[in-house]
Amino acid sequence: FNSKLPELETSIFDTMSRMAHEEKAINLSQGFPDFGADPELLACLQDALQGGYNQYAPLAGIYSLREAIAGKTEKLHGVDYDPATEITITNGATQALYTALACAVQPGDEVIVLKPAYDAYEPAIKAQGGIPVLLQLQGPEYRIDWEALKAAVGPRTRMLMINTPHNPSGTLLTEADMKQLEELLAPTDILLLSDEVYEHLVFDGREHQSACRFPGLRERSFICASFGKTFHVTGWKLGYCLAPAGLMKEFRKLHEFVVFCVNHPAQRAVAAYLQVPAHYLELGAFFQRKRDRFLAGLEGSRFRWTPAQGTYFQLLDYTAISEQGDVAFAEELTRKHKVASIPISVFNLNRTDPKRLRFCFAKKDETLDRAAEILRSL
Ligand code: PMP
Ligand code: GLN
Repeated sequence: FNSKLPELETSIFDTMSRMAHEEKAINLSQGFPDFGADPELLACLQDALQGGYNQYAPLAGIYSLREAIAGKTEKLHGVDYDPATEITITNGATQALYTALACAVQPGDEVIVLKPAYDAYEPAIKAQGGIPVLLQLQGPEYRIDWEALKAAVGPRTRMLMINTPHNPSGTLLTEADMKQLEELLAPTDILLLSDEVYEHLVFDGREHQSACRFPGLRERSFICASFGKTFHVTGWKLGYCLAPAGLMKEFRKLHEFVVFCVNHPAQRAVAAYLQVPAHYLELGAFFQRKRDRFLAGLEGSRFRWTPAQGTYFQLLDYTAISEQGDVAFAEELTRKHKVASIPISVFNLNRTDPKRLRFCFAKKDETLDRAAEILRSL
């Protein structure tokens, strides 16, 4: 069999979650909550199931959910997207990202990816015959190296991928970053694929700078988001893509034959739940409290950190504790000390190892307290 992805290994999320399970360790590795969804959201799902919304949804998603997303986008960013032609509901952000890449990338096209990057990007590019061009984000703040980015842009560049708030570092692109990006792309026809799954998880009074806020970016962007991440229901696999009508038309051509449409009752439930803006406006404060509780629990430990600006991930530097590589140290932490995390070298260019592990703080307070107590003792 002539594999399209011959060198692909098992996902680190699978590996670490399995290890956590086998070792009965506290699982702060894979990014999912260990608490239930809001009972109001579950009631919305019950209503949808009882209400008979159990057959295929329309291809692009139910109109009321697309309208609710348009309303949310206007409220948060002051930007209009037409629910009829510019919004499609997807099977999680993963399918939105894959479909955007599949409709835009031709064999031999280059796609610039900023490392460390979420593990779904490169395989999806390669599966189209595209060539990932990898650039490392710089320093503890994971900033874009603008000179390197300018140098990487060439005649074969089809697309640039960004992710803000950023997994695994928890950093945000600033307004100045986005303007610089807008300026850099202005003379080109390069598309932008903006992964914004953590759009609502932003802390300390910062603002999420969605690509849609910048006209020169909006016109060339596929923006992908996830209700699984937003509403603590990662198992629902429900997300969406925003794009200008011309790009969305191409996106839907592939969407139709990958999934045709996605889970109907979950769409009904989220459409109803989005009618109350507090349901998404309060998420930042909710996760900021989780972050602060986890970090307060680590005071006095030998870990070092910069508090995450967004997402529900916190990087911890362990150079004062161990000289091991991060994969080995994450394994020791799971097997011996019973706390599972994600070694971030696996997302880095050439697997450079900054001796930092990623911990997910989307967990019950007692889970965070127990984990912090163990980590403090190292
Ligand atoms: N992008 C990033 C950066 C992620 O962390 C994740 C993980 N949830 C996804 C995309 C995929 O989202 P979904 O579960 O909605 O497919
Ligand atoms: N996005 C989640 C994370 O970063 C994991 C999703 C997955 O398991 N693929 O942990």
